[in-house]
Amino acid sequence: MMNDIPAGLYVHVPFCRTKCPYCDFYSLTDLTTAAAFADDIRSEAELYRRDFREFDSLYLGGGTPSVLPAGKIARITGILRELFSLSESSEITIEVNPDDVTKDKLEEYKDAGFNRISVGVQSFVGGELEILGRRHDARRAERALQLIREEGFTNFGLDLIYGYQGQTRESWLFSLETALRFSPRHLSCYQLTLSDSTPLGGKRSLLRPVIFEEEKQRSFFLETSRLLTDRGYIHYEVSNYAREEKYIAVHNSRYWRHLPYLGLGPAAHSFRGGRRWWNLSSLRLYRESLREKKRPLRGEEELDRGRLLLEELMLGFRTREGVPLTLIREIGGGEEVLNGLLEEKLVVVNAGRAAPTREGFLLADKIPLRFNWGEKNGRGG
Ligand code: SF4
Repeated sequence: MMNDIPAGLYVHVPFCRTKCPYCDFYSLTDLTTAAAFADDIRSEAELYRRDFREFDSLYLGGGTPSVLPAGKIARITGILRELFSLSESSEITIEVNPDDVTKDKLEEYKDAGFNRISVGVQSFVGGELEILGRRHDARRAERALQLIREEGFTNFGLDLIYGYQGQTRESWLFSLETALRFSPRHLSCYQLTLSDSTPLGGKRSLLRPVIFEEEKQRSFFLETSRLLTDRGYIHYEVSNYAREEKYIAVHNSRYWRHLPYLGLGPAAHSFRGGRRWWNLSSLRLYRESLREKKRPLRGEEELDRGRLLLEELMLGFRTREGVPLTLIREIGGGEEVLNGLLEEKLVVVNAGRAAPTREGFLLADKIPLRFNWGEKNGRGG
């Protein structure tokens, strides 16, 4: 086990005040037992205490961590600091819904050591927030960002969503420009995708919004990337932009770099040393398992070398760091595929790595499939 490498720590807070109809993350809107969640985290963290010691990032996501009652967030970080070691320079992030942001909560987060806030804004246009079923309105989002700045949080970011019927190029640019007025250090611009398990994605839903056709998605993506890079943002991952190198998300970058992380809470995923495991997506079953002092696992898998390398390729082409040429050369016919990608200007080669261009980002999921993966898998090891 690679116990000596500091890992990232993720806590999935499985509560939301209301459920957004496009979302397939595990969360419950019944908050009656939310106050007890800190005790669940203690029970689960104790089960990992011997295997994980040191962390250098902490991310509270979900769900909506900001719905937890006063004092509970500080309690959770207190428990984690008591049971694990969190290095002083750690990036400590909390996701918040604009509707929950108050001066008191921000003070609690600051006192608990949070140095990064991620705000789920999604849009600054009222009608779009209604389509997305968000509980906040645009004014509330602006007020939340103002408060976050007034409370002295410099490192904060926003999530925005594009690509659905009802949104126009003008309304999307309006949301982007409104976001930029607050000088966020980080912006995540997600293209809406709908899984069939969500109310908006389900075939039976009469409200199902039509996702933009491919060409329109493409033009929104390219225009967003051009606009934000012109304004000085680094487009470092398909959907992510940072104002400076130091604001590139440390914790989330672990996922793209195959670095170890431990996830606590229902439905949380973990990864270390080629092994991935994930928790039960049911708060009730999760709690039952903890009562029996058992890790609340729903599944686990051991990734062989072929699978690890495939994932490295898939994850690498999502980031501007790209993929090492040494990895591409290991794949049968890899050089030829690379030459094709270079000709099509989908990648550039720099410092021993093949990195996606802006157009390449658009095809991040498809590029890895061009490689002859069967041969690679055959080598295993
Ligand atoms: S999008 Fe966020 S707030 Fe909405 S249901 Fe999903 S986790 Fe909850």
